[in-house]
Amino acid sequence: MDAEQALQRANELLRQHQLPDWTVRLDHARQRCGACHFGPREITLSRYFVQLNDPAEIDATILHEIAHALAGLRAGHGPRWLQIAERIGAPLHTTNHSAAMPAPPWGLRCITCEAIVARRHRRSLNLDHVRCKHCGTEQGVLRWERL
Ligand SMILES: [Zn+2]
Ligand SMILES: [Zn+2]
Repeated sequence: MDAEQALQRANELLRQHQLPDWTVRLDHARQRCGACHFGPREITLSRYFVQLNDPAEIDATILHEIAHALAGLRAGHGPRWLQIAERIGAPLHTTNHSAAMPAPPWGLRCITCEAIVARRHRRSLNLDHVRCKHCGTEQGVLRWERL
């Protein structure tokens, strides 16, 4: 979906659910679709999520975050949140497995066979003891690479 359309849709839904003082913007999250920020009264949608998904999927995420905004910070995904989610037609699961999200941007490449042996969202792993299985301890040294 187009970013502008998604923002417009989110604003429509915020008004529909009596949250006129809330705003929406896009963020750069790669691992979650949306988020609810109670301090600034703001809902954010991942620009990658928006790009990669269809309107029904985007609506579901907006409604999930609106249910948070209505339920309040302390409700978490507890009974109060669930009740509101059900009332406004948000999906009742709390993690979205159907949404398409971008592939992790970092790869671990073997310096010998040059295969990418793993992809990660962050360069978090200590590589001292991690090796390419095919090339072994001596030759299977791995390097991070931005994909
Ligand atoms: Zn949630
Ligand atoms: Zn290798």
